[in-house]
Amino acid sequence: MSNFVWCHGPSCHKSHTQDRIRGVKGSKVLRTRKVAQTTWNTAEHMSMYSYFCSNRCYNNFANTYVREIIALHPRTEALETSIDVVKEQATDYFGHPYTNTKIIAVDNNGG
Ligand SMILES: [Zn+2]
Repeated sequence: MSNFVWCHGPSCHKSHTQDRIRGVKGSKVLRTRKVAQTTWNTAEHMSMYSYFCSNRCYNNFANTYVREIIALHPRTEALETSIDVVKEQATDYFGHPYTNTKIIAVDNNGG
């Protein structure tokens, strides 16, 4: 079982770094980096790092393919989060009163 994916950065193979050099003298190339699949980068919240070797490659990918990505997930209307705005009276370190405004998310679906 392969334990890596090739970096999806469209210009990964054009970066001049020693670790990308492959081949023998006279026919050397710069090759796309492998991205090792670890428990760290394959966890759900870290999934972007399982496809890209660096933030530079991720940004290059996003800037190159942003229109296709947006076409897959278009935003045609604004999203909203229900909140309560609560104003609380408090005192600072010196005992001066001030009003603290808190925004509290309201779960309308959870009952
Ligand atoms: Zn890369």
